[in-house]
Amino acid sequence: MFGQVQPTPWDIDFSLLGIPVKVSPFFWLIAIIFGWGLGDPSLVVLWVIAMFFSILVHEMGHALMARAFGYDPHIVLHHMGGYASYVPGYHHSLWKSIAISLAGPFAGFGLLGIVFGTELLLVANNIDTSYGLNNFFWFLTTINLYWGIINLLPVLPLDGGQVCRDVLLLFRRDGEVWAMRISIAVGIGMAVLFLQFGMRYPAILFGLLAFNNLQALNHRRDNW
Ligand SMILES: [Zn+2]
Repeated sequence: MFGQVQPTPWDIDFSLLGIPVKVSPFFWLIAIIFGWGLGDPSLVVLWVIAMFFSILVHEMGHALMARAFGYDPHIVLHHMGGYASYVPGYHHSLWKSIAISLAGPFAGFGLLGIVFGTELLLVANNIDTSYGLNNFFWFLTTINLYWGIINLLPVLPLDGGQVCRDVLLLFRRDGEVWAMRISIAVGIGMAVLFLQFGMRYPAILFGLLAFNNLQALNHRRDNW
């Protein structure tokens, strides 16, 4: 959802359920940087696998919904997470766009449900899980929960921002302008909130998103 990414010789390409997937080397780099603080190299590896799996499931949610509407999507995982891209057809509608945007976070929540269900089954059957598996479950839980919730915030170009814009467009012709204003307000609010908790990286991310929306809004004004 953060624009197109240039191809590199280190891209990994494969196909999942008929949907082409490209993984940029920067995806692994950022995943390792995020997990580096865990210290134990085996935990860092599990973290990277959990991040890959979680973001892939999220993007597969978008892509499968797009395919259900007859589009031909592809997925790219990159330094800012990932995106599922498709060319909207003639019969595209705001409702279809909303369904495709929501399918990503809810695919992640589905995965979260499977992780919880598996943990409950293991506990109910008194099956002891290893240190590695416990941590892997914990990584999947945190990544899917936070990635899903953050993505649902009404800040463009996050999924929630797209849903917010599409819902506003159902009622107002200037829906996109209002979605940008909301993005700026919520983006600044989230940046301040994350700073209060000393979480610098998400604070910077939301500050940048607010700034991008401010620029996009000014650009629109200039062109009126
Ligand atoms: Zn998404």
